Amino acid sequence: MAVVMKGMEVAKSMKNELIFRVEKLKESGIIPSLAILRVGEKEEDLSYERGAKKRLEGLGVVCETAVLPEDVTQEDFEKKFDELNVSNKVHGILVFQPLPKHLNIEPVKERIHPRKDVDGMSPVNMGRVFANDKKGVAPCTPAGVIEMLKHFEIPIEGKEVVIVGRSSVVGKPLSILFLQENATVTICHTRTKNLEDTCKGAEILVAAAGVPKMIKASMVSEGCVVVDVGINVDEEGKLCGDVDYEQVEPLASYISPTPGGTGSVTSSVLAKHVIESAES
Ligand code: NDP
Repeated sequence: MAVVMKGMEVAKSMKNELIFRVEKLKESGIIPSLAILRVGEKEEDLSYERGAKKRLEGLGVVCETAVLPEDVTQEDFEKKFDELNVSNKVHGILVFQPLPKHLNIEPVKERIHPRKDVDGMSPVNMGRVFANDKKGVAPCTPAGVIEMLKHFEIPIEGKEVVIVGRSSVVGKPLSILFLQENATVTICHTRTKNLEDTCKGAEILVAAAGVPKMIKASMVSEGCVVVDVGINVDEEGKLCGDVDYEQVEPLASYISPTPGGTGSVTSSVLAKHVIESAES
């Protein structure tokens, strides 16, 4: 039976140190603060916002949302963003994506202050992470995957890691973080020829494709560490991951569930990045 890597366990272990750091900041008159920039009222955004707010405020980090209407113009969107970007009170900015189709995120990615870029979306932070520069801020989800593996004391060095998914927000930056930990990394995507065999070669398998339950038992070797990043809704309207948990769990040595897995770590990493920004 696999050890279940619950995200809340990781979040709890991070909590005391983060609270301590917030207290130290407050002693010197700094209140760490995150600004969320949300366009519209999408349920996914609202749900993530509620979770993040609860986690951050529980640690003493202020979390305020600037809400813009769904039909906001590019000009007004950028104007609001610029206000947050120059405000002394804001240490981190999180822009919910994807934006409505008529809005372009690129000018914001270019302009965001690298220290306020707590979800590592700017070319500056991407480049720094790629170059192994300690000042680089990685996106929260991939950083949370590494945090989770370390919490469960799972060795990474020298391991065969396979990541399914190559997005700029999860798969690609995660591959770099694994390389920094001296793993051997393979990234799979929709053009990968032999997905099943490639996944079977993994000692650590990370699913980040956004396809409900696509990782089946036939794709996983016995003893594999399986990390599920996917957050999807199945045919019955229930939340599920990219891993077919029922099938894969008996084979895995460690497995993260969905819900209750990597998602819970992401918001703790977000808090950590805001605190680091306030400290710098
Ligand atoms: P994207 O849609 O941006 O990227 C998906 C990636 O998976 C692409 O590289 C795509 O390949 C690849 N892929 C899709 N289908 C297959 C397939 N059948 N076989 C192999 N590769 C495939 O998604 P994101 O990276 O943004 O998100 C991935 C998942 O993670 C989603 O479920 C999302 O909800 C979740 N997520 C979870 C977070 C958390 O905190 N746990 C945070 C962010 C996202 P190609 O490039 O060829 O198209």
